[in-house]
Amino acid sequence: MIIVLLGPPGAGKGTQADRLAARLGIPKIATGDVLRAALRDGTKRGREAKAYMDRGDLVPDSVILGILQDVMTSPATAKGAILDGAVRTVPQAEGLGIMLAEIGKKVDRILLFDVDDDELVKRLSTRTVCEGCQTPYMGRDPGSKCEKCGGKLVRRKDDEPEAIRNRLEVYRTQTAPVIDWYGDNKMKVLKIDADGPVDEVTARAIEALNG
Ligand code: AMP
Repeated sequence: MIIVLLGPPGAGKGTQADRLAARLGIPKIATGDVLRAALRDGTKRGREAKAYMDRGDLVPDSVILGILQDVMTSPATAKGAILDGAVRTVPQAEGLGIMLAEIGKKVDRILLFDVDDDELVKRLSTRTVCEGCQTPYMGRDPGSKCEKCGGKLVRRKDDEPEAIRNRLEVYRTQTAPVIDWYGDNKMKVLKIDADGPVDEVTARAIEALNG
């Protein structure tokens, strides 16, 4: 099953993607994680993406479609994938659909994680992430240790106030139209209330997927 997760930055897509991936036995593919790994490895793709990411802007569609092509044709996604933040513009949604059709697949479910803006800003401005395994934490200071792997917690450059504002604006102008695009193409977008305890949000997502 191929599942696309939509929602603003800070909606908890990454956390829920991990849980759904474990539950369904299919991998989570987060283009943000792929890009950050490319940056750390100093690859051409990473160098191309860096300035966009630091500002909180979207990296060009051609870069993302290249990543999706690599990932969706890999044996690792033979049984499906949870695509976390991987479709952020209408051309990406179109491109993904075309590429999947070429290999006899399609997007099976679309989940939209919904949270109001004040809560998003609060979450992002108090978030730290593990430098190693990327696990996010709320309200833990940079420099603390990750509970999962012992790595150092850091503040993401794009979780600084200026970049947060920009990312929310980018979401409204460039990503929100993807919701209508799927609707116009007769693909149901399942809206999940993403406010509340993590376990409850996971339960709502599972219920929506089964419904
Ligand atoms: P994330 O970890 O999903 O918040 O992504 C971090 C940053 O990576 C974003 O602010 C963008 O600069 C870039 N990025 C990740 N996924 C995409 C995508 N599908 N389209 C464009 N840029 C992306």
